[in-house]
Amino acid sequence: MLKPQIKLLMIEDNPGDARLIREMLTDASSVQFQLKIADRLSQGLDFLAAEAFDALLLDLSLPDSQGLETIVKVHTASKHIPIVVLTGYDDETVGIAAVQEGAQDYLVKGQVDTHLIVRALRYAIERKRTESELDMQRAQMYAILDSMGEGVIYHNGFQAEFTNRALTFMTGFNGDEFQGYLDLIYAGNGDTLKALEARIEHGVSTEGVWQGEVRLRRQDGSEFDAALTCTPVLAADREMTGLVTILRDISQEKALEAQKARFVANASHEMRTPLTNLRTTLYLLRRQPDRATEHIATLEYITERLRNLVDDLLDVTRFERGAIPIEPRVIRLQDPIEEVNRIQKAEAERKDITLTTELCSSSLYANVDPKRLLQVITNLVINAINYTPNGGYVAINLERDGQGVAVITVQDSGIGIPIDVLPQVFQPFFRVSEGTVKGTGLGLTISKEIVELHGGTLTVESEVGRGSAFKVRLGLVEVPAENAVSVY
Ligand code: ADP
Repeated sequence: MLKPQIKLLMIEDNPGDARLIREMLTDASSVQFQLKIADRLSQGLDFLAAEAFDALLLDLSLPDSQGLETIVKVHTASKHIPIVVLTGYDDETVGIAAVQEGAQDYLVKGQVDTHLIVRALRYAIERKRTESELDMQRAQMYAILDSMGEGVIYHNGFQAEFTNRALTFMTGFNGDEFQGYLDLIYAGNGDTLKALEARIEHGVSTEGVWQGEVRLRRQDGSEFDAALTCTPVLAADREMTGLVTILRDISQEKALEAQKARFVANASHEMRTPLTNLRTTLYLLRRQPDRATEHIATLEYITERLRNLVDDLLDVTRFERGAIPIEPRVIRLQDPIEEVNRIQKAEAERKDITLTTELCSSSLYANVDPKRLLQVITNLVINAINYTPNGGYVAINLERDGQGVAVITVQDSGIGIPIDVLPQVFQPFFRVSEGTVKGTGLGLTISKEIVELHGGTLTVESEVGRGSAFKVRLGLVEVPAENAVSVY
């Protein structure tokens, strides 16, 4: 049977010791050694760089390196080589220190024989292989933990021993800043941290897992709600060796929940008012048949409002399913703006608001769903009128920018939107305040979605007390005018 081969490098400056060990290795019956010898560290490191070895026999006292430093230098040059250190007679403590420094084993010169040296080398190779596998598994585990979206703390007795990258991202604190458990980030919600830890301990020991919500504080002082899941890590004998806590930032979910609750309340309110009016008007119609025309007009107005509300609700649910139908055709962009201007003129006049248009003199064409674009511009103009006090102005502007894009701007001199909530105005159900203007907070969400479905963008700039400017950007198409349809 073929003997297993071990390619061995020995770094040993004493020729006598080197010869002795070579002879011992030649005597080995179970393994065949392929030995290369270097008489100083620099030469050994050159050999290591040039070819692969299965193991290294290393004398620590060399002409160009002494003591444990020799191991450090070898490790720096080659992390993966198993090392067996050769120490002098009375140097056993150095041998132990060498193992602590990363060597796999040590042999005391003058106390070795073939059997011992072969065993030491084979174990060293095996141990290093296991260590490398463990290192790889550990690296894989860290990579998994670091790529998780949730924060993770591994802790023992409520002392953090490991935290992942997501936790740093979530809280702004580096892993090494987490000394205790949640001490650094706990903002409390009625409970002291001690009481929370007691609840966790009790939950984990009785249920096997603890789940709950806590309020946490980031490094910048801002606070957020987090869901915690604490699970024990059990040793083979089922003894608990630590706890893993997974933290999920649930502030957005909570905000969405609150928005939805507000939406349901708003929508019900919006529905109830016209329904009450409907009943009153029907009652009046029955009592005052002579004023039928007037009452029927009111009924028509109310049903129109209800229909709009239901349309908005339907649009929102369709967005959630990603199923809003778009029927694009090439249209002249001046047309829907003129149409909105015509329809909204009366409402603007009623509020003593000057509604003007400034449209690019040459026709601009885009491939859009005419009904949907009309809906977007109408929505922006109605908002501009609604959120502008009497006597102000609303201007609709159409121009072409340098890159074949049409820009429709709806500018008002109204109340403006505070900068800190500006990005939120496009979120479903968001309203800056429940002031006098009735609304559902859905219009801008729907408008932005429609514009984006056309490959465009809807953005806003605003200043409180000075007004807002909403900009729709849409790609232009260059077409002969006769291909464009007139749909308004
Ligand atoms: P709604 O008008 O039904 O409330 P929108 O989605 O159209 O819903 O608008 C969301 C919120 O954005 C409004 O409630 C209002 O607070 C703010 N907003 C929208 N347009 C303007 C504007 N032109 N000026 C000031 N605030 C505005």
